[in-house]
Amino acid sequence: MGIMITDTTLRDAHQSLIATRMRTKDMLAIAEKLDKVGFFSLEVWGGATFDTCIRFLNEDPWERLRTLREKVSNTRLQMLLRGQNLVGYRHYADDVVREFIRLAVKNGVDVFRIFDALNDVRNMELAIKTAREHKAHVQGAICYTTGSVHTVERFAQMAEQLEQLGCDSICVKDMAGLISPAVTTELVTAIKERVSIPVDLHSHCSSGMAPVSYYAAAVAGADILDTAFSAFSGGTSQPPTESVVATLMNTPYDTGLDLELLHEIGEYFTDLRKKYQGLFATETTCPSVDVLLHQIPGGMLSNLVSQLREQNALDRLNDVLEEVPRVRADLGYPPLVTPTSQVVGIQAVLNVLAGERYKQVTQETKNYLLGYYGRPSGEVNEEVRESIMGDERPIGVRPADLIEPELDKLREEANKLGIIHKEEDVITYALYPQVATKFLRGEASEEAIRSSVEAAVADLPAKDLPMEFNVNVSGELFNVKIASAEGKPAEEMPTEVKRPTKLRKLPEGAVVAPMQGMMLAIKVKVGDRVNKGDVVATIEAMKMENEVRSPSSGVVKEILVCEGAMVKPRDIILLVEGSDG
Ligand code: MN
Repeated sequence: MGIMITDTTLRDAHQSLIATRMRTKDMLAIAEKLDKVGFFSLEVWGGATFDTCIRFLNEDPWERLRTLREKVSNTRLQMLLRGQNLVGYRHYADDVVREFIRLAVKNGVDVFRIFDALNDVRNMELAIKTAREHKAHVQGAICYTTGSVHTVERFAQMAEQLEQLGCDSICVKDMAGLISPAVTTELVTAIKERVSIPVDLHSHCSSGMAPVSYYAAAVAGADILDTAFSAFSGGTSQPPTESVVATLMNTPYDTGLDLELLHEIGEYFTDLRKKYQGLFATETTCPSVDVLLHQIPGGMLSNLVSQLREQNALDRLNDVLEEVPRVRADLGYPPLVTPTSQVVGIQAVLNVLAGERYKQVTQETKNYLLGYYGRPSGEVNEEVRESIMGDERPIGVRPADLIEPELDKLREEANKLGIIHKEEDVITYALYPQVATKFLRGEASEEAIRSSVEAAVADLPAKDLPMEFNVNVSGELFNVKIASAEGKPAEEMPTEVKRPTKLRKLPEGAVVAPMQGMMLAIKVKVGDRVNKGDVVATIEAMKMENEVRSPSSGVVKEILVCEGAMVKPRDIILLVEGSDG
């Protein structure tokens, strides 16, 4: 039987290559043609697309789904769902999960690919059951990773378990492109022996092995392969749709798809790539066997690169890549996929930038160690756990069992804020209260401008830095002038100053932002007493909550930023007076 193809160009491909920045209008322009190909499905939604839409693009993700659905009437629309984490980074209450899935179906999702970052099936059960109740196709995904605790036998058992839960197909989700052709043969064969439902292989070209592994999968009896159009394929993205179709032509695995039509669509994406050219980083487009050592999935690598760039620390990328496997080992070898990839990645960044391992620990790392993400696959490093958590023991139950229903309360909150215009807005708010509030109030455009400018400036050689340029944000044109931190026009800056930088002497008792991000919460008021090491604020950076601690003891004299504000590294958050610490 021929192989079926899931095309990921509108979701995973741009998430892996250009930090999920493809805009809805660029998708709509080609949607009708994509619908004519005869793909098994088009992966168009979920994963990081939801977050990026409201955080950076000032676009409504529900609107994207609805308008795509209007143009795609023959092909299944597929989304990636992080089990109980939905499209966010924490576990949500069961009532939020049910409502999210109901609305996703209502707006056009046909196929739910559901996974859990720790392969903890308890975290997938409710999503599987709910999507089945809505008559959707449920694809149960197994996160593929390597390490002694991750055996073919264990993966095959999980596939069987997913079939028993009612999944319509199984996906081997190789998010980092680690799977070799030989292992593919072994794994696909083992799964096909255990289950009678179709098996999909999803891989990335990060290590360069994926196209060969796809052929091995086809020969071993896989039913579906995930690909992306050539201009958005390769590197940390999927193998090229056109090439995979050509590879299998005139074999028993022939996809039956029209190569000429694919070529025609391919030209559209080749043109489109030029528009996003500045966002493609060499680090994400060249295959490298490094990935076999650091195991970093595509989306995570392009995010690490852009996050280190924001922190002005891109030169530390190699140190971070070396630290990632050490943190992963400490945490019991979790597969690296959202949100564990963020937990491990950001902890690795902090371990490197702080100059001392686990000196700064994110709330997410603590939550992971407490079992709030689920059961780790292997043993956690006891010494690390104890140094961070002390005597606190992990929870034994499914994390969401500890979360009270939250939908009614959130609906009430959001209504009070006056941000609900349609029923989907409650879910947007439930997923990302801070970012959604700004977005739903229409206040996100400043951030959208900023990210567009930063993306444009970041990739220009310093000497070619324009003094002024126009930025298009969702069809609106903005004129932006580059100025130094002191507000002088850039032409007055000495030539050796390559970027606007802020260097100033810090007053005593200053608590500064350790990184760029959004002030999530200020935990103290003026007049409060704080001790050295107390958490005084939290910053949301790199999609995670990071604690800011006071470097000295004393009394809070002044608070200089407000919650919700964007801060840069070394920005002063507050001043602490008195130096008994
Ligand atoms: Mn992927």
